[in-house]
Amino acid sequence: MNMKLYNTLTRQKEDFKPIIDGKVGFYSCGPTVYLRAHIGNHRANVFNDLLKRAFTINGYEVKHVMNITDVGHLVDDGDDGEDKMEKTSRKTGETAWDIAEKYTEFFMQDLERLNIITPNVMPKATAHIEQQVDLIKTLEEKGFTYKTSDGIYFDTSKLDDYGKLSGQKLDDKQEGARVEKNPEKKNATDFALWKFSPKDEQRQMEWESPWGIGFPGWHIECSAMSEEYLGVPFDIHTGGIDHIPVHHTNEIAQTEAARGKPLANIWMHNEFLQVDGGKMSKSLGNVYSIDDIQDKGFEPLAYRYFLLGAHYKQTQNFTWESIEAAQNALNKLRKMIIELPRGDEVSEGYLKKFIEHINDDLDIPGALSDLWLMLKDDQVPDEMKYATALKFDEVFGLGFADLKKEKLEVPDEVHDLLELRKKAREEKNWEVSDQIRDQIKEHGFEVKDLETGQVLESLV
Ligand code: AMP
Ligand code: ZN
Repeated sequence: MNMKLYNTLTRQKEDFKPIIDGKVGFYSCGPTVYLRAHIGNHRANVFNDLLKRAFTINGYEVKHVMNITDVGHLVDDGDDGEDKMEKTSRKTGETAWDIAEKYTEFFMQDLERLNIITPNVMPKATAHIEQQVDLIKTLEEKGFTYKTSDGIYFDTSKLDDYGKLSGQKLDDKQEGARVEKNPEKKNATDFALWKFSPKDEQRQMEWESPWGIGFPGWHIECSAMSEEYLGVPFDIHTGGIDHIPVHHTNEIAQTEAARGKPLANIWMHNEFLQVDGGKMSKSLGNVYSIDDIQDKGFEPLAYRYFLLGAHYKQTQNFTWESIEAAQNALNKLRKMIIELPRGDEVSEGYLKKFIEHINDDLDIPGALSDLWLMLKDDQVPDEMKYATALKFDEVFGLGFADLKKEKLEVPDEVHDLLELRKKAREEKNWEVSDQIRDQIKEHGFEVKDLETGQVLESLV
């Protein structure tokens, strides 16, 4: 069955046609590793993961590339202001290189906790300076660049269709532009390809280039690294909607100007996550990380479940009540599934409905309702419910297959201990309950107390 995907570039749902039969090349703009990723960033990451899993369940072999931005992303997201890496360094005293390593590590841990499949390639901008310089050289040879006192810029007026991704005309942008911070720029939309290091200070991250010592602009890394790992064009490029007017528009401009070919065939963008009905902000103290979710007693997987509840093209609102509801729903699902007898045969009818939802521009909320309907359907035998839930979970990624192992391998002694602990807790004998928890731990299991009762997790 065909997958239909909404393409930001053509503003319509299209039948997905891979460049190479049976394969998908897919690039996502990844984290700038100067701070902890927040739950909004992870909406983008879970969206990528769901898309990747949707391709896999349709039989495609997926190559997913996600870059790590460890240089060149300036605080204003444009061509002015301090490099985000160097800013954190100035604040904390750590080197920009150590900061990049530290936050990349945190990021990888977050991906794991959210059960996100690690992208196949995670190239760093600092490890691909040569490719970026080469691309800028090509743009220079083709007459798309000019030099100012602070760097080499892309002349956006040289491309007739600059801005086609957002649909905004160059003239509109010019008129609407704020008073130019950089009077040397020819057009408000022009952007830096290479920036010179300041004359009076040595940057921690800087390189030689044909134009002088400096560092690459933020957009060029994605054009250079996507080409390195996926070629030109590749199938799908993703990112949050904030990237449409500038970052992705400029990636397209660079690659099309240099190669005379499209960068990617389909552009997909996830809408933003809001918190308490508004934008996340430091001043409101609501730029939450996955740690904050855990500190409040919720599982990262409950956050993943929460995200399944909205289509990626809709704004989604996070509140502590909504994550609590997600945790409860997830607990309920686990309890229903854990109690089912194991089976291998999947319900064809429900699988068909599920795939129809998935292939209709990744209608995950629709697919999630298929799961609930299937589990509550008396016509579906229990063994089949089990197998079907596990099949659906290949896309949802909620770890239902792991529940199976726990159920099968729990020894009788542990069952007895659980019974004793249940009694102790009913009698509010917390001391005994904790002692039994420790005894259970010695058997290799962690007990979790969910609203629905005790649940075991294997420690191995
Ligand atoms: P950044 O590190 O700012 O480049 O962001 C990494 C990814 O997260 C990008 O694809 C952004 O579009 C996305 N993103 C940032 N904030 C949010 C948000 N509040 N909701 C959803 N996606 C976001
Ligand atoms: Zn990018």
